Amino acid sequence: MKIAVPKEIKNHEYRVALTPAGARELAGRGHQVSIQAGAGEGAGFSDADFQAAGAQIEADVDTLWRNAELILKVKEPQPDEVARLTPQHTLFTYLHLAAEESLTRGLMESGATCIAYETITDTRGGLPLLAPMSTVAGRMAVQAGAHSLEKAQGGAGVLLPGVPGVAPGKVTVIGGGVVGENAARMALGLGAEVTILDKSLARLEVLDDRYQGRIKTVYSTADALETATRESDMIIGAVLVPGAAAPKLITRSMLSDMKPGSVLVDVAIDQGGCFETSKPTTHAEPTYIVDGVVHYCVANMPGAVARTSTQGLTNATLPFVLALADKGWQQALHDDPHFLPGLNVHAGQVTYQAVADAFGLES
Ligand code: NAD
Repeated sequence: MKIAVPKEIKNHEYRVALTPAGARELAGRGHQVSIQAGAGEGAGFSDADFQAAGAQIEADVDTLWRNAELILKVKEPQPDEVARLTPQHTLFTYLHLAAEESLTRGLMESGATCIAYETITDTRGGLPLLAPMSTVAGRMAVQAGAHSLEKAQGGAGVLLPGVPGVAPGKVTVIGGGVVGENAARMALGLGAEVTILDKSLARLEVLDDRYQGRIKTVYSTADALETATRESDMIIGAVLVPGAAAPKLITRSMLSDMKPGSVLVDVAIDQGGCFETSKPTTHAEPTYIVDGVVHYCVANMPGAVARTSTQGLTNATLPFVLALADKGWQQALHDDPHFLPGLNVHAGQVTYQAVADAFGLES
């Protein structure tokens, strides 16, 4: 199969959809892999790395798209890219269509077959192509939050692990899913005192069993949230209510109960944020202060660690890419009931119910 990997063009997107290791797997099975010149640079992979893996480098973006059957990307196609899509293309990337009506209609008009990373499922009811980026964001949240606690960043001047004779900082994580557990693990590793709040008792049981009391688990109630705001040096927002905006769990009035210079890291900002005072920020200016509390609300945290993120993402996507390349999309989706929900748009029709419902379309 003819496979193309364009350079990502969304603002501040440095990841690439295939690593040289992935290109080697595909080329080794006889597929033709074309990488746009410079596509891997942001993630630390040179054109020469891809060539050594058996891929060819294409400098001309028109030629790249025109010759491709399967297109691998990271972010949803931008308007210039939608204009290049035709019925000959199968596109495999993050799409997040339910919030993007004009993109959805553009993909329908293109006639292309569009498969989204984020709607592929696994045997445990999880979303295996979202999980690696949640892992990255969760681990980064503590790194970012610890930096924000420094005096020069507007923080309280607290070192999370403390020192001998000085108690460690207190970190509360709201939402104990993939982001939350990874954040808690990092905070624990740094020597902080860590509490996870969740609405799911089943999830709290798993965490309690896994960490054997080294992480405190607390059922999330208004009371528990008030205690967290009074006592924590850092609160990490990591909730997800599938298909809905994040609930506002810490209101502006609650900020006055927080210690001056404490830190809120709102990882759920990509779903609107779970703190009332959150607004999306960028890696260039990641924090701002409201009522003496430092807010870190970067919506695309994995972008800051593009190399690790690229490797984590492509490890998860590669088995699906190989199936698409070896069997073609019809057979690959037919053979795997967890791959099938990935199909979002085909031949002008939306094929994923939640996206169709969002825009009153037939699926
Ligand atoms: P997840 O589904 O694995 O976990 C979410 C957890 O939140 C679940 O355990 C659920 O029980 C819990 N929860 C839901 N409502 C709650 C409430 N009211 N109180 C307490 N807990 C509640 O989701 P995830 O993969 O960990 O993702 C968490 C959030 O992080 C999502 O909004 C996701 O979009 C976001 N995210 C952001 C970035 C970024 O760069 N900012 C990157 C990756 C993920």
